[in-house]
Amino acid sequence: MSCIVVVGSINMDLVTLAPRFPGAGETLLGSRFLTAHGGKGANQAVAAARLGASVSMVGALGRDAFGDQLHAGLMREGVDLAHVARIDHECSGSASITVAEGENQIIVVPAANACVTPAQVEAARETIAQADAVLVQLEIPLDAVEATLRLGHLLKVPVILNPAPAQKLPHEWLQLTSYLTPNQHELATVLGEDTHSDFRDLMRRAPGPVVLTRGSEGAWYRDSAQPEPQHQPSFAVDATDTTGAGDTFNGALAVFLHEGLPQAVRKACAAAALSVTRLGAQGGMPQRAELDAFLA
Ligand code: ATP
Repeated sequence: MSCIVVVGSINMDLVTLAPRFPGAGETLLGSRFLTAHGGKGANQAVAAARLGASVSMVGALGRDAFGDQLHAGLMREGVDLAHVARIDHECSGSASITVAEGENQIIVVPAANACVTPAQVEAARETIAQADAVLVQLEIPLDAVEATLRLGHLLKVPVILNPAPAQKLPHEWLQLTSYLTPNQHELATVLGEDTHSDFRDLMRRAPGPVVLTRGSEGAWYRDSAQPEPQHQPSFAVDATDTTGAGDTFNGALAVFLHEGLPQAVRKACAAAALSVTRLGAQGGMPQRAELDAFLA
């Protein structure tokens, strides 16, 4: 069984469906409201847990009703929450999502996620030392991301950095990263390059291994064993909702990394393909038996 540590965000998604977006100062009647458990960190933790990994999470929740619900949801998935802090003076992270006319508008309030500290990462040192892989994204403070990269490097535990939401990162951080998992836009932004550059050129310019996702086209990967970018085509499915495809991909990549990069990327594409056949981010993530049957 793979042991995975996820250092990242936990959010409540508040989703409103409306006939159109309201203008400034306008009140509209929406058609539906629903809540869903999200945050890139929590999503990737759930993806890995469903695929049979033993998962520990480092993160933060408010001491509020959403915090209680998100905590219970992760516990139900079997995620170890010993390193998830409950913050008295902050509410839990949220993403307010309005869906209208086939588009969406999203406002993320990090709240408790902004309270994740390097000290919390350091407190998880023993757990990280025993992990097969660590996953981290950019929805928590950058000093905590940096602490994760440095500790993983020191302990020789592979760290997968999913650079979302995209921002330019110090070159040294990329050298500390075992696998960078951007989409094309994120890779260009992280490197400080033109977003219209050829993605294969961008991959060659990155200082370390890169696994680049390209939606329905699948993924490309490059490391010292495969210095030229290699393509893993996607699995053909009827896509219903691609929300969370990237998070499923990252969780699966971490779980199967010990099988070697080509095999891990193939299984990550398969898990992500299954996830897009169903609604919701965590709602669409496959169980291990389902993935095995799909690949058989
Ligand atoms: P998001 O942030 O919305 O999750 P992303 O940009 O991080 O998206 P994508 O590149 O869109 O991630 O998707 C991740 C992986 O999911 C792809 O590499 C691919 O393997 C799989 N995938 C996405 N869309 C499809 C699809 N329509 N059919 C099959 N597989 C898909």
